[in-house]
Amino acid sequence: MPLLPAYQYAPPATIILVTFADRLALIEDRIAAACRRTGRSRSDVRLMAVSKIHPAEAIVEAVSAGVTLFGENRVQEFESKRARLAELHVSAEVHLIAHLQSNKAAKAAALFDAIDSVDSLRLAERLNEAASKAAKTLPILLELKLSDEVTKTGLDPHSADLRVLLDRLSALPNVVLRGLMTIAPFDDNPETARACFRRLRMLRESLARDYPALDLRELSMGMSGDFEVAIEEESTLIRIGTALFGARPKPAPHPQTPPAP
Ligand SMILES: *Cc1c(COP(=O)(O)O)cnc(C)c1O
Repeated sequence: MPLLPAYQYAPPATIILVTFADRLALIEDRIAAACRRTGRSRSDVRLMAVSKIHPAEAIVEAVSAGVTLFGENRVQEFESKRARLAELHVSAEVHLIAHLQSNKAAKAAALFDAIDSVDSLRLAERLNEAASKAAKTLPILLELKLSDEVTKTGLDPHSADLRVLLDRLSALPNVVLRGLMTIAPFDDNPETARACFRRLRMLRESLARDYPALDLRELSMGMSGDFEVAIEEESTLIRIGTALFGARPKPAPHPQTPPAP
C-alpha cells in the first residue's frame, strides 16, 4: 500500500499525511454543522471544489473522493485539463467562475457546463449565440459586485446595466439564468463577508419580486475563509479551493504576445 497520497504539492522532502479525502471530510463536517445551526438541510448546499491552477490529477483525486462539481477560472487552462481528464476517462461538472472576455465566449460555451460569472449583457449575448450554434442551453449566474474593492469584478447592483440585462434575458433562449454569484471582500474576519452575503440574499429577494419569471434560486457565495457564514446567509453553492486542495501553486504566466523585435 502506498504510504503517500496519490498527489501532493509539498517539496519532495516533506511528507504530508493529509489526503484530499481527509480535507474533504473536515469541510463536510463544517458544512453539516453550519447547516444544523441554521436549520438547513445539507442537500440545500452544493460544494464546488475550485481546482484552478491545480493539475488535472487533482480533479481526478477529488472525483474519486466523491466531489462532483468543480470551478475553474481560465478557458485555456481548463481546455488542456479537460483533454487530460478525457485521457484518464474522468468526467465531472465544471463551471467557469471568473471574468470571461466576450471574445472567448464561444470557446467557454463549448467547454464548460455553466458560466457562473456573467457580468455584462454583451457577454450573455455572445454566450447565447455560441450555445445556440452548439445546440445547447447554458446555465448562467450573474456575478454582482457588492464591495468597493477595485479588484472585484461583477455587475453593479444599482446600475441600469443589470436591469437591461435582466429585461433582455427572455430574448436569449440558449442561456438560462439560475441565480446570482458574488465574491466577498478579502478580510480575515468572516463577519465582514456576512454583510456582503446578506446584501446578495436581499438583492435576490427584491429581484425575484421584480422579475417573477426569472429563476434566481442559486446563491453562489462563500469560499475557504467564509463559507460557514455564507451558509448561514442562505448560500446554495459554496466555492472551496484552498481548504480542499491546499495552497495554490504559483500560476503559470499569462500567455503573452512576444515583444516587438
Ligand atoms: C479562487 C476562487 C475561489 C476559491 O477560493 P479559496 O479561498 O481558495 O477557497 C472561489 N471563488 C472564486 C470566484 C475564485 O476565483
